[in-house]
Amino acid sequence: MGGMTATPAGPSNDKRVLLAAPRGYCAGVDRAVIAVEKALEQYGSPIYVRHEIVHNKYVVQTLERKGAIFVDETAEVPEGSIVMFSAHGVAPTVHAEAAERKLATIDATCPLVTKVHKEAVRFANEDYDILLIGHEGHEEVIGTSGEAPEHITLVDGPDDVANVTVRDDSKVVWLSQTTLSVDETMETVDKLKEKFPQLVSPPSDDICYATQNRQIAVKQMGADADLVIVVGSKNSSNSVRLVEVALGAGARDAHLVDFADEIDEAWLEGVSTVGVTSGASVPDVLVEGVLEWLSQRGYADVELVKAAEESITFSLPKELRRDLRAEAAALSAGDRPAT
Ligand code: SF4
Repeated sequence: MGGMTATPAGPSNDKRVLLAAPRGYCAGVDRAVIAVEKALEQYGSPIYVRHEIVHNKYVVQTLERKGAIFVDETAEVPEGSIVMFSAHGVAPTVHAEAAERKLATIDATCPLVTKVHKEAVRFANEDYDILLIGHEGHEEVIGTSGEAPEHITLVDGPDDVANVTVRDDSKVVWLSQTTLSVDETMETVDKLKEKFPQLVSPPSDDICYATQNRQIAVKQMGADADLVIVVGSKNSSNSVRLVEVALGAGARDAHLVDFADEIDEAWLEGVSTVGVTSGASVPDVLVEGVLEWLSQRGYADVELVKAAEESITFSLPKELRRDLRAEAAALSAGDRPAT
């Protein structure tokens, strides 16, 4: 990346950029975006996608240009077509609707969201009351709640704890949305534990590694930054959380932008250090645009703030892998010389 080279010695300049690492694409988003691209190559256009495949305006617009059609509901997809479910996951009723309409489905739900769905099913089967910490109306929460609607109660942050009631306070577990603020979630859990001392915790973290790592990195830079710019869309939960975490860590100011041209020059007044990061659904080309914009205004010195190494990858959705394998097998059979 051009912006990452140190500024050559020159007139003294106290302007600098702290660039968070890791930032941007997580394994679940990478997989979902590649799944749409591969599906378009494999089956041709259109591929219908229920809801934004990931919460990023640029990604959605780019895939639309390639032939994806984004719809709000399965009912909008013509019978017999191919529909892909987004990385945020869907309730079982959505799978049933798709089957009724004879749609071929490709499920791009992130495996880390699927893990939470499975936990919900298991605890519901054991007749627990499940307190799902998450944001009301978020697609992931709707999908997870749909796995066991009779057992799940949504807890939308610490202030919501007072409203929570359960059937049996000796059989209660909490689960969470994958993209929440770690600190705020623990505050909610502490309050829940005060109310329900026998509250059971999930077997492993529900807030995913990518959300956690991006928050750790922005925390590290927050105290040193006069301004933090988070690249991400307003409906991206983990991106919005990064703005909050930056401010909580001591950044004087923090803003969320989809593109560099949304940055307001006025934000730079009196600013020496700008922190830059991006949500898990953001391709790095958008961060490069922001670094370029800053560099043109004297913030050309970029220091990496590295909080973690990430090497996780997920294989493509199984329906797609099956068809890609079948095509590869057919091609290689066709290649065989006649005997
Ligand atoms: S943010 Fe986490 S849960 Fe969501 S798609 Fe990425 S890895 Fe999966």
